[in-house]
Amino acid sequence: MNPARELLRELPSLDRVMGHPRIVSLTDRLSRPYVLRRCRAVLDDLRARIQRGEGVSSDAQLDAVAARTAERVQADETRALTRVVNATGTVLHTNFGRALLAEQAVEAVRRVASEPTTLEFDLERGTRGRREERVEQQLIELTDAEAATVVNNNAAAVLLALETLARGKDVIVSRGELVEIGGSFRIPDICAKSGATLREVGTTNRTHLSDYEQAIGPTTGLLLKVHPSNYRVMGFASSVSLSQLVALGARHEIPVMEDLGSGALIDLARYGLPREPVVADSVAMGPALVSFSGDKLLGGPQAGLLVGRRTWIEAIGRNPLHRAVRCGKLTLAALEATLDLYQRSLDVTHDIPTLAALTRSCDELERAGRALLPALAAALGSGYTLQLEAATAQVGSGALPTDEIPTVVIVVAADRLTAEQIARRFRRASPPIVGRIRDDRFLLDLRTVGCAEDLVPRWRSDAREP
Ligand SMILES: *Cc1c(COP(=O)(O)O)cnc(C)c1O
Repeated sequence: MNPARELLRELPSLDRVMGHPRIVSLTDRLSRPYVLRRCRAVLDDLRARIQRGEGVSSDAQLDAVAARTAERVQADETRALTRVVNATGTVLHTNFGRALLAEQAVEAVRRVASEPTTLEFDLERGTRGRREERVEQQLIELTDAEAATVVNNNAAAVLLALETLARGKDVIVSRGELVEIGGSFRIPDICAKSGATLREVGTTNRTHLSDYEQAIGPTTGLLLKVHPSNYRVMGFASSVSLSQLVALGARHEIPVMEDLGSGALIDLARYGLPREPVVADSVAMGPALVSFSGDKLLGGPQAGLLVGRRTWIEAIGRNPLHRAVRCGKLTLAALEATLDLYQRSLDVTHDIPTLAALTRSCDELERAGRALLPALAAALGSGYTLQLEAATAQVGSGALPTDEIPTVVIVVAADRLTAEQIARRFRRASPPIVGRIRDDRFLLDLRTVGCAEDLVPRWRSDAREP
């Protein structure tokens, strides 16, 4: 008989594997169809290997098939959104989910997730209320705007605003501000999707008020200013300020909007950080609308916030698209709690993790790093050297793009390992630790780890070798 056919015949049946004690202990606590699917996949893999003429020998034994199935189930358990230690130095790391919520916000999410709340209920009148009302009121107070609203993310906020104000009309944007953010948010694409026509003016490095003025015509619906979050034109450059645009818009009765992107609620320059536009400053210039994200410098949940003139915010509220991009209750709860801290906390730079990470002094980071060195050296074993150094880090998520902020790092070097190999070893710890490589050196940045002890790797049994 052909050896492949023989091997296939000898494979344990699905029923036998499902009856194996290891699998039975799984189906005692997990859905049987789910375990069956994993088990069948292991057998299918073996059949494919046999058909390709590969030797499978011991892998095809009943015990081995059961063990492999159990491994796959285990892998599913660890795969779901694994916690990582962010030692990259990038405070708002898009790949790690940007802002971390304040404790109060986490608690608020837990509450609305597990209990009924007054999400859309007016207790006073016993009738239906609007879910966004409280957050809108908070935003009005925090930015001094006439009105505010909130949607799922800033991309949705911009889309919704363009659709409401400029569908079937022209939107005038400087060529220096036609940005792409996060790989998929592009101003020209959002503009096209909103049904507005993009009118580019000026050049990449210089745009003048007269460029806007000359482009204004009977079909102009909006003047849009975009904060070029993730890059900056240096050198021979000029752009038109929001206040100039607002004055121009007023002369022609055309609304003006600014997409601030990150949008800080407090002035970071007060804490020695590079200046990032503050939402209230933009609002004070009197544009129709200002939009910004909830999970960048604000330090809240993913959300798109719109503040500005009442007539325009009301028009946006009447747009059916608003309903399609509205926030869920978990978001609203987290946002309400975060904004509450901005209103009432004695020290937001302590209570809001993003602001805490940005404002911690290098002295404090250095002390934490120095205290950690012995434990880190012990976890790494011989062959490694550790060194505490001053360095610079990025804010991330398009906030303060060209400015780096001072930080403190631990440089981890090893006799026989490259920086890449050390990085991989740390990524295999439990929880995984993600540092950064600069100039062929592996760095653990202290600014972005909430608790320095997290940098001491706990090795998984299979992670010893690089
Ligand atoms: C980040 C950003 C966006 C997109 O915001 P999301 O909240 O990620 O949807 C839009 N515009 C600017 C200028 C940004 O920086």
